Amino acid sequence: MTLPATESRSLPTNPDDAAKLGADEAAELYRETWDRQRGFPVDPAQIAIQKGIRVFRFPFEPGDHRSGWLNPDTLDQIKINSRNSLETQRNSLAHELGHWYSTKVQGRPLGSCNRDKTRVITTPDDAYADSFALALLMPEDVVRAARLLGYTPTAIALALAVSVESAANRPLSARLV
Ligand SMILES: [Zn+2]
Repeated sequence: MTLPATESRSLPTNPDDAAKLGADEAAELYRETWDRQRGFPVDPAQIAIQKGIRVFRFPFEPGDHRSGWLNPDTLDQIKINSRNSLETQRNSLAHELGHWYSTKVQGRPLGSCNRDKTRVITTPDDAYADSFALALLMPEDVVRAARLLGYTPTAIALALAVSVESAANRPLSARLV
């Protein structure tokens, strides 16, 4: 017998705490699914397939500002707006994988995804999912090693197929070496 889902597991209401959790849980999914022998960049579509999620890419209706969508009923279908650049599509897919991970794997309620056009974070769910996406596409160990080797943000961005701004600003947790 399966116990009914409870509301006891939910995201921290503070967006900074939610973001930290998103980065930690993306690292778990990365370690579980990404064979480093495959090299980089990390392909979120391959991870989705591995997890039984179907990904559909097509142009959303004009005026629909969403970049991606996770089916809230089945949690096994993600739609990506192909009007955006490939880099944005990768980010959108990783973001939706964050919502999927929090809901399907961690058993939290699926919160609203209300990031507006200005990309202002409005919900803990999106703080979590945005942070999840960046951490998944820019694994901490890879970025740390690349910086130690003297790679510039531009080189890291090219290798990981993310924006230069993202590569430059990727936070690393404090760790004694
Ligand atoms: Zn979202």
